[in-house]
Amino acid sequence: MSVSVSGDNKIIVRCSWETPLSKIEDFLASKERWIDKIVTRNAERLAVNDDVVERKCVYLDGRKLPLVISDKNLITSEAVYVKKLENIQKLFTDACTADFMKNVEEISKLTMITPNSVNIRKYTGRWGCCDGRNNLYFNYMVFMLPPYIRRYIIVHELCHVICHNHSPAFWKLVSDYVPDYKSVKKQLAAFDFLTTLY
Ligand SMILES: [Zn+2]
Repeated sequence: MSVSVSGDNKIIVRCSWETPLSKIEDFLASKERWIDKIVTRNAERLAVNDDVVERKCVYLDGRKLPLVISDKNLITSEAVYVKKLENIQKLFTDACTADFMKNVEEISKLTMITPNSVNIRKYTGRWGCCDGRNNLYFNYMVFMLPPYIRRYIIVHELCHVICHNHSPAFWKLVSDYVPDYKSVKKQLAAFDFLTTLY
């Protein structure tokens, strides 16, 4: 049996369907302190971002912009306009992919790590991944992040081309290009709630 807490404070218990409710309750009671800690931390983060959670604002490059439902899909320096919320993915992907690909190419040259392909898609609960054939996939929500955090995600996934796990050797490689990756990882965690929002 396991329990996890999502960025928007949904508590999810995974267990066999035969597990009696009393066992699940006991299990949750034993994890109560840990759950409380995560829920409180998430609540603090969400309070800072309640305008984003309520879809009144949206992040772009780590900047909060008003999100305006209008008759057009458009990003300006002042606001993000969408006809409907479902348009955000396409709008961001169309506007930001070219620069992102350039960015990946630069970091690929710097690290001398070449992926098989680079793709943008939508994920819930993750920022990117590298498959067994070294194709990289990035959550389009990386466009919402501050550029230095986005750079860390690119470095992270590129390093998976060399090392397909999270071993000490992997983190050593990451640290060659993002020496303060531990701090950046923590800062990224503050944006994890985005991946369950859209
Ligand atoms: Zn990883």
